[in-house]
Amino acid sequence: MSTLVKAKGIIKGTGEDIIHNGAMLIEEGKIVSVGTQAQYGTDYSEILDFTDVYVMPGLIDAHTHLSVVPALGNQIEQLKLPPHRNVLRSLPNIQKNLASGVTSMRIMGEEHFIDIEIKKAIKEGLLKGPRLLVSGKGIVASNGHGVAHTTSDGEQEVRKNSRLNFAQGADFLKLFVTGGMSSPNSSVDHCFYTREEIAAAVEEAERVGSYVAAHAHGGRGLDYCIAEGVRTIEHAALISEAQLEQLVKKDLWIIGTFAILFHPSGIEESDFKYPAIREKVLRAREMEAETFSKVLEYKPNLALGTDSMHGLLGYEAECLVSFGASEKQALEAITLRAAQACRLEDQVGSLEAGKLADFIVLSNNPLERIQNLQHVQHVYQEGVLVHSNDIA
Ligand SMILES: [Zn+2]
Repeated sequence: MSTLVKAKGIIKGTGEDIIHNGAMLIEEGKIVSVGTQAQYGTDYSEILDFTDVYVMPGLIDAHTHLSVVPALGNQIEQLKLPPHRNVLRSLPNIQKNLASGVTSMRIMGEEHFIDIEIKKAIKEGLLKGPRLLVSGKGIVASNGHGVAHTTSDGEQEVRKNSRLNFAQGADFLKLFVTGGMSSPNSSVDHCFYTREEIAAAVEEAERVGSYVAAHAHGGRGLDYCIAEGVRTIEHAALISEAQLEQLVKKDLWIIGTFAILFHPSGIEESDFKYPAIREKVLRAREMEAETFSKVLEYKPNLALGTDSMHGLLGYEAECLVSFGASEKQALEAITLRAAQACRLEDQVGSLEAGKLADFIVLSNNPLERIQNLQHVQHVYQEGVLVHSNDIA
């Protein structure tokens, strides 16, 4: 079975220029080659004619959750719902993500290991959805941000719960180090873990070929994370120039999450009624814009995630452009760079020979206008059509 995909333009996602009148040959769900239509004949089992639209790699959300919907308020209470309920609550979110062109995503903490079960269900074909990378239960201190059912205090409990996650099938560990936006009783620069506890998690992960992702906005907690080699720093809204320098030197990652702060259907819709959160968010918007203009100057490894703003990964890229990134840079942060952040770059993230044929079809060229990501016509995973949106 061979499929030739013809398109007005193919964005390979490798940083190369768009291929006008492009063509991509797919066999057994994998990309065989990408070039111009003139280089290919007509003898294929199937020809997909997208000659009036654009093809680019499937999007990768490097930071999200399955069961959480920020607009419904109190995210921690949502995580604490019974597992069967949260599995069901995850289903429409998964579909929203897929419909928006997301073909892979990294899940940053759920209770009851529902992420691990849902990952299996998608892999087995029981459920259509983005390919998942999962962390199991978040590692969080009793007084930390993000406490649902499971807490880990002291090196022993950090190690114990890290191992339980890996035993269940976690791909990586999610550590909550600093305070967050959506908890009224903690400040974003509070640090809830000692350096030793963070080091214990990193050591547990690295010893089994994995890594730690940490929720860290800034301050001492972020210092500890960088010093101990936490591979992906999530949010980083308050990262300083000195921290950026260290992070770049150690080749670590920043995962930006903007929609939850900036989009009207994010924290604004749910929690603005709490003055403490409202204040924090308004301040954070200003700081985030300022911080990320600075971040872009340092050129760190950078990928983006929606943090449960399901279907809004394109909007994340719009935010990055508004902070000063080019369209190309923003696209990379939700494709190839996100694949690298998730350690999926051997499989997905760009349209290159040998990779899985995860691609999306767009009405207009997103390199010309990042908002064009809002108009996804079709979504393919491994060469198979998994979703079509009803747009001309
Ligand atoms: Zn999150």
